[in-house]
Amino acid sequence: MPDHIPRRVPYAPPPPPGGAPAPPAAVDNPRRVPYAPPPPPGGAAVRSGFVALVGRPNVGKSTLLNAILGTKVSIVSDKPQTTRTRVVGVLNGPDSQVIVVDTPGLHKPRGPLGRHLNETASDAAGGVDVVVLVVDGAGGIGSGDRYVAATVPPGLVVVNKIDLVPRQAVLEALAGAAGLGVPDPWPVSARTGEGIPELVAALRGRMPPGPRYYPEGTVTDVPEAFWVAELVREQLLAVTRDELPHSIACRVTEWEWPRVRCEILVERESQKGIVIGRGGAVLKEVGTAVRAQLPPGAFVELFVKVDRDWARDRRRLELLGY
Ligand code: GDP
Ligand code: MG
Repeated sequence: MPDHIPRRVPYAPPPPPGGAPAPPAAVDNPRRVPYAPPPPPGGAAVRSGFVALVGRPNVGKSTLLNAILGTKVSIVSDKPQTTRTRVVGVLNGPDSQVIVVDTPGLHKPRGPLGRHLNETASDAAGGVDVVVLVVDGAGGIGSGDRYVAATVPPGLVVVNKIDLVPRQAVLEALAGAAGLGVPDPWPVSARTGEGIPELVAALRGRMPPGPRYYPEGTVTDVPEAFWVAELVREQLLAVTRDELPHSIACRVTEWEWPRVRCEILVERESQKGIVIGRGGAVLKEVGTAVRAQLPPGAFVELFVKVDRDWARDRRRLELLGY
């Protein structure tokens, strides 16, 4: 299990490895002065806090997180159960810091992976400043959305995917969303960016005064190796389309940057062929698409392994970082 987050502790740099005392500051090096953050201009207080994005699978929570940040930190696909961990994105402003937490889709669970994903999502939504319920404005609002609203009561509702339907249908979706218990839902398109600046302003406005929980340059808490494994899984879901069940897992087993070795776990021998593709075509396409999203020079080696029960075994889920 990932530990219970958001951790509302101000950032403190980790102690040096092995507990060795920090070397004394060299007086002849002018850059070796202890870091002190500049005071905010005009003495204005910083507003900061946590926002959790919750909703049914596939409503566009991860796409919305990326749109809010203007950077991709969470993978996206049209398959359910794509987001498996809590993903943190940090939106820094001159006098604000909004920490946005993406979560797995909440659904009536089937099997240990589904139960685990639900737990991860409701844990991540606990104790945040604003729970944002994301619904699909093009797909209709229904019992799945009401299930989520009852599980984690939202403070704000976002109607996403308004690019897909005519204005009249957007109005109907907004009226439907108002039935989820929060007035004035926000219409947005995470894909085109419509409504995102307004939503971001609203989120900033709801943050209480507080410290910057992350150093100002931080965009996400996803470790690099985990991110590469996530990109591999995203591209596999995209390239294999409907042939492959969503139950694949990826993990980086060697990190010697720029060389990265990543294992793809499938549940059955028959799935191995789908992942490899004719003459290795699928792996090649996946590798190329992943490399295109990494710094130049990256070399990602992909291996496929059969692990019959990874999605059914709690301990294995933990080993994979879920
Ligand atoms: P999640 O499961 O809620 O995190 O959903 P994802 O962010 O993975 O998105 C699910 C699917 O919806 C993907 O195919 C996205 O490209 C698509 N999607 C997300 N937001 C929008 C949107 O605003 N407009 C359109 N047209 N598609 C979207
Ligand atoms: Mg997602």
